[in-house]
Amino acid sequence: MNADFHIHQLGHPLLRQSAEPVADVNDPAFQAQLDQLLSFVIDKGGMGIAAPQVGISRRFFILSSHANARYPYAPDVPPFVVINPEILAHADSVTKDWEGCLSLPGIRGLVPRYDWIDVRYLTRDGETVEIRYEGFLARVFQHELDHTEGRVFIDRVESTLELMMEQEWQTRVARQPD
Ligand SMILES: [Zn+2]
Repeated sequence: MNADFHIHQLGHPLLRQSAEPVADVNDPAFQAQLDQLLSFVIDKGGMGIAAPQVGISRRFFILSSHANARYPYAPDVPPFVVINPEILAHADSVTKDWEGCLSLPGIRGLVPRYDWIDVRYLTRDGETVEIRYEGFLARVFQHELDHTEGRVFIDRVESTLELMMEQEWQTRVARQPD
């Protein structure tokens, strides 16, 4: 299936709205949407996308993870669907690291995120999952969950001094070893 989605950018009201829960995971139209969104994420090679970013004000997102220049130790996890997510518990500690977002192209921010989170969500088969994520997956999960609550990563940076434009970030941060 070849799907193309228009990605809403900061300024679109859906990105600032708390989304509604998914009522019926088994709805065929919803399942078709999931297939399209999954193939979209696979095509783009992205780490995830949340429904409000493509104009769907519902609480679900796609997550994936693979090693990259900035996160060389990120685990390889193929894209999967997270529906009606909740954070049950989280670490006291946070770590700051760089994030970007398809809805805010060209900007990077140093974002504090909980080091681990215990979460509950539904799979696309309607099964309830309870799991702890840590490190990179915990970060991406928190980023995508924020989208379903009308928040974007720049809301979380502690200072505008911790924002960078992509071109400078590529030169000054991405190419530097940790
Ligand atoms: Zn995002």
